[in-house]
Amino acid sequence: MKNKVALVTGSTSGIGLAIAKSLAEKGCRVMLNGSREASKVESLLTELNRDHDVAYQRANMMDPEAILRMVKACEATFGKIDILVNNAGIQHVAPIEEFPLEKWDAIIAINLSAAFHTIRAALPGMKEKKWGRIVNIASIHGMIASPFKAAYVSAKHGMVGLTRVVALETAKAGITCNVICPGYVMTPLVENQIADQAKAHGIDRKAVYEMFLKDQPTGRFVDPSEIADLVTFLSSDAAASITGTILPVDGGWTAK
Ligand code: NAD
Repeated sequence: MKNKVALVTGSTSGIGLAIAKSLAEKGCRVMLNGSREASKVESLLTELNRDHDVAYQRANMMDPEAILRMVKACEATFGKIDILVNNAGIQHVAPIEEFPLEKWDAIIAINLSAAFHTIRAALPGMKEKKWGRIVNIASIHGMIASPFKAAYVSAKHGMVGLTRVVALETAKAGITCNVICPGYVMTPLVENQIADQAKAHGIDRKAVYEMFLKDQPTGRFVDPSEIADLVTFLSSDAAASITGTILPVDGGWTAK
């Protein structure tokens, strides 16, 4: 995958960072993204640039204009975008009648609309080269529902629909678009949920771990590297005929 350029949204931690590292290890030049100012990720960039070629573009995935600037900055820095990974995401858990309106808007914007904006902006360049890979990171909640996750479940189901449309629209253009649906992966997003649940229910973290893992037949959290390896495969030439697919990486959750 030498000479390929990847843009990975929400890639300063968790799954996104694992994806960025995996693609960089395969020889891609990678544009990282996050909402934090560049000075906050300087040490991460220095560390990655020891062995790889990466840059960082700050852009809030709630802001369509910032998203467009990020895509243009990637094309200006590295000359093109071959691989686009829509990974940025947030979570909020509350019963629907109490769901804060601003949380609904933020989750729909970051977890769904941002992918529409990045794809819309990156596709012309991919079509010109007749080569492109788009990988969307949804969730098992793009396939099934859980209570109290109205915005997250809606956005992730939307991501699955968006993926299918893009796959059909690009099928003859040398571009693929797929969506990965992880079960629980141990990242800061899940660590925060575990801490919140432990506090809310007055129980210890181990009990919350067990609560989370009861749905995942393997009985363990998915490792971020497992998602990253799949993204890297989907981004390779070997995956040219895999498009429009929904790929659960959920330890057997949806087999039940
Ligand atoms: P994380 O909190 O470690 O990472 C989320 C990333 O999104 C961070 O890099 C953060 O900076 C970025 N981000 C958040 N808001 C942003 C904004 N407004 N603008 C730009 N970047 C923003 O969480 P994670 O677990 O690595 O999640 C990554 C993706 O995987 C998310 O889309 C999440 O829904 C999905 N996912 C996670 C799990 C899990 O169990 N961890 C399961 C299924 C799906």
